Amino acid sequence: MLYYSTNGKAEKADLQKAVVKGLAEDRGLYMPEVIHQLPKAFFDEMPRMKFQDIAFNVASAFFGDDVDQDSLQDLVYDTLQFECPIVKVKENIYSLELFHGPTLAFKDVGARFMARLLQYFIKQQGRHEQVNVLVATSGDTGSAVANGFLGVEGIHVYVLYPKGKVSPIQECQFTTLGKNITAIEVDGVFDDCQALVKSAFMDAELNKHMMLTSANSINVARFLPQAFYYFNAVAQLAANPQHLTPNTQPVICVPSGNFGNICAALFGHQMGMPVKRFIAANNANDIFYNYLQTGHYDPKPSKQTLANAMDVGDPSNFARIINLYSKNGELTAEETHQRITSLISGATYNDEQIKETMRKCYQETGYILDPHGACGYRALEEQLKPGEVGIFCETAHPAKFKEKVDDILGIDVEIPARLAAFMKGQKQSVPMTKDFADFKAYLLKQ
Ligand SMILES: *Cc1c(COP(=O)(O)O)cnc(C)c1O
Repeated sequence: MLYYSTNGKAEKADLQKAVVKGLAEDRGLYMPEVIHQLPKAFFDEMPRMKFQDIAFNVASAFFGDDVDQDSLQDLVYDTLQFECPIVKVKENIYSLELFHGPTLAFKDVGARFMARLLQYFIKQQGRHEQVNVLVATSGDTGSAVANGFLGVEGIHVYVLYPKGKVSPIQECQFTTLGKNITAIEVDGVFDDCQALVKSAFMDAELNKHMMLTSANSINVARFLPQAFYYFNAVAQLAANPQHLTPNTQPVICVPSGNFGNICAALFGHQMGMPVKRFIAANNANDIFYNYLQTGHYDPKPSKQTLANAMDVGDPSNFARIINLYSKNGELTAEETHQRITSLISGATYNDEQIKETMRKCYQETGYILDPHGACGYRALEEQLKPGEVGIFCETAHPAKFKEKVDDILGIDVEIPARLAAFMKGQKQSVPMTKDFADFKAYLLKQ
């Protein structure tokens, strides 16, 4: 299958190129030329299938033209060695717990899938040269990418993070791994890390010296696999008749930042996944919310909030959503806006509202929300209509934001063993200035 750019000026790419390059030459985002509908027989069977098999069917529709079935099945099974259960929080509201992966983040799914897909292409080509992944992180992405790529042969990962600006738990998740993961501690802020990575991709001498690629969340191999757990959630609901009367389609609510996660759900919907409508829940970064209200997209500098993985002022996947509903530019801006608002509604909450929601939910139900999931839960509480059933994504384990959650709820959140294990490891990092010349000199020695 070929992938075209949302900016329409770059040549179409095959999957391998789209994955290795990430972004098209015209700075647009890659979109699959065709979105295959899944057959009715699959949807009928889904409630009786296990997660890995549901995911394999979805993956075949996306990647089946480019990856042979056995390898793809291997890849999907290797990625999904954990469950994403739905948990009933209260009447008609379910939490889709996306935090049972290696770093307790939903980004684990896309990161692992991308690592294995890249490895597949490297092997297929019989390449002997090492591929180097550069990733800048303010916390969550670095840990998911580092763990996803850990031990994958032929690939080395450099994680650049701002010194003293990520939480201790997050830092442990990518500095204690060793093997093919190198953590680079930059004396600067997140933007400095990102600038170093961008400069490296543009440096001709460096690109001649080593093969560089990014594991950015706009990569098709990172965002599309996120569709897997939505199909599985719908199947779980349907499998349990106490949850759903026949033919009721759930409302899905996604706490969103860069909009990769909800975008994957929307691709699923295009493939026929039975969902009634979607809600995109924002924190105080309300750019998408405002677009829904006005039809105007007005990016702004990001604001810092309690739900910091959603602090995005110019969501990169917005272009994909517009492209999807404008039928690749065939429809006018008004028609596109109308199609989008008939399927997706928005919500925006400030830090006070997030705290209030976490407290209220804990008191009423005993369920511990993290600040990101709280936005999703509240949007369902406010927007579900009588007779509707809603599923919100709980995007991170509350222990990942332990200091905040403990403080807001007055409790002592238990740290899961998997997270605690990272904290026992030995921290190893390479100190770096924010000067590109230093970073380049370092990479040239590798
Ligand atoms: C990345 C992340 C989000 C936002 O996901 P997008 O795909 O960027 O919209 C929400 N919550 C948590 C905990 C995250 O790590």
